[in-house]
Amino acid sequence: MTESDLTAGSEVDSYCLKCKDMTNHMVIAMTDGKIAKAQCNVCGGRHKYRAAKPSKSTKAKSSTASRAAAGVTLKEKKATAAFEALLKGRDGSESKPYAMTAIFNKNEIINHPTFGLGVVTSIIPANKIEVTFKDGVKILICVLPVSEIPEPSKAKKKKIRKAVKEAVA
Ligand SMILES: [Zn+2]
Repeated sequence: MTESDLTAGSEVDSYCLKCKDMTNHMVIAMTDGKIAKAQCNVCGGRHKYRAAKPSKSTKAKSSTASRAAAGVTLKEKKATAAFEALLKGRDGSESKPYAMTAIFNKNEIINHPTFGLGVVTSIIPANKIEVTFKDGVKILICVLPVSEIPEPSKAKKKKIRKAVKEAVA
């Protein structure tokens, strides 16, 4: 069966962008012996007839484009805004590479291999930090206890006092 044997109402296989697959279609309109429009029997979408799957490169390109066109979710937008507000006036050059063994402080800019730049928005004792990235807030683990306000420990102070006492005596 060639394309010219088809008429409106004929069944034909066409690529459907919605189903992202070759699906059964019904011919809706013919122009000059060629299928002008087809309706997908799976999703009911009406579109141009596509005899074959778009090539991989085109597909990858279009899926990236459609994702960009679809836009980021509201949650992501909010996260990006929060991230940008936190980073305002800072260029990220002071960023610290993220490592589980590093100690982080609040408001410190970290550089994560997967999530990119992030700002430490909260310290969660004893070994977690909340970081705001462009894509959202993530909780990261630190192996070492997170640093609180740097303050000499009581034991250390006692030791110093004792040392001073001994020096005086
Ligand atoms: Zn479809």
